[in-house]
Amino acid sequence: AREWHLAARPQGWPTPADFALVEAPVRQPGPGQILVRNEYLSVDPYMRGRMNDVKSYVPPFALGEVMDGGAVGRVVASQAEGFAVGDAVLHGLGWREYATLDAGHAVKVDAEAAPLSYYLGVLGMPGLTAYAGLLAVAGLKEGDRVFVSGAAGAVGSLVGQIARLKGASRVVGSAGSAEKVATLVDDYGFDAAFNYKDGPVREQLEKAAPEGIDVYFDNVGGEHLEAAIWALNVHGRAVLCGAIAQYNDTSAPAGPRNLALAIGKRLRLEGLLVRDHAELQPRFTAEVAGWLRDGSLHYDETVVDGVEHAADAFIGLLRGGNTGKMVVRLAP
Ligand code: NDP
Repeated sequence: AREWHLAARPQGWPTPADFALVEAPVRQPGPGQILVRNEYLSVDPYMRGRMNDVKSYVPPFALGEVMDGGAVGRVVASQAEGFAVGDAVLHGLGWREYATLDAGHAVKVDAEAAPLSYYLGVLGMPGLTAYAGLLAVAGLKEGDRVFVSGAAGAVGSLVGQIARLKGASRVVGSAGSAEKVATLVDDYGFDAAFNYKDGPVREQLEKAAPEGIDVYFDNVGGEHLEAAIWALNVHGRAVLCGAIAQYNDTSAPAGPRNLALAIGKRLRLEGLLVRDHAELQPRFTAEVAGWLRDGSLHYDETVVDGVEHAADAFIGLLRGGNTGKMVVRLAP
């Protein structure tokens, strides 16, 4: 079976040569273990950080070793109580066709309730990130004006929609193409959206949110964060979720140069790690599944076919090739 190894640590943007698709034997499960045939692999922005040899909140990928990440698949052999052949599971051994793991590291998911790939997106880690960031970290209140960057992506598309469903009075998003901007307004119900490549973010945001914003959900950092600090109203809150604009930078980012505005405006800027919010999982799953069922939440995926294209899918994600969640579907 095939698996992806980290072949080299990228300087700046990753290239296909940084990844190697390698043939490896499939290991039969030992006591307490399961063997899973993966059906979908997740590619996520945080994996770019793991390609660097630096200490962070997730350990780096090892050079010449198999990479990992979220995956969903079916049990094909089991030596673990409670796991039967055919069960659908979510686990952390992605970037490969077959995974052998301790059953304690897998979570059974309901394949009847939703397509399996949803557990990597709207019903999984990115969904909980959006939900926890907006409700637990920002403390969204009815009537808040909300701005989210990376708004057409997995997390951002849900942030905007959850804000609307929870009573935000205005939802504004930014994304990197005219098509994505149209999707935000037409499909996701944003009140306004703009293409950050069309001009200075500060000016575009001021036009889109003439009465300012109360909550900023930051997926991008850099110029976006600086623009949001200008636009935030007194007692505004910014959720620092990601800074994708700088993940491939080779020098330290500038700014935000206007951070001192946070004093007079009494702003709160707070970092978010989704893993701190596991206690929200049951409420999150119930509420989001309900919105999906009744059609009030729109969910897009960009599906790349074939394990051999996982590296391309990942690089494509960093370049904005996705609308909604980027996933890799493995051949049956
Ligand atoms: P997305 O689905 O949003 O995909 C990444 C998107 O980033 C691309 O589609 C692209 O869209 C956009 N992008 C790339 N470069 C830039 C740039 N220079 N400026 C602005 N936008 C850019 O990914 P996710 O939803 O999975 O993740 C979104 C963010 O949330 C990331 O920063 C990620 O690291 C973070 N995150 C953090 C978590 C946490 O616990 N803190 C958990 C999960 C995600 P476009 O075409 O619009 O440029």
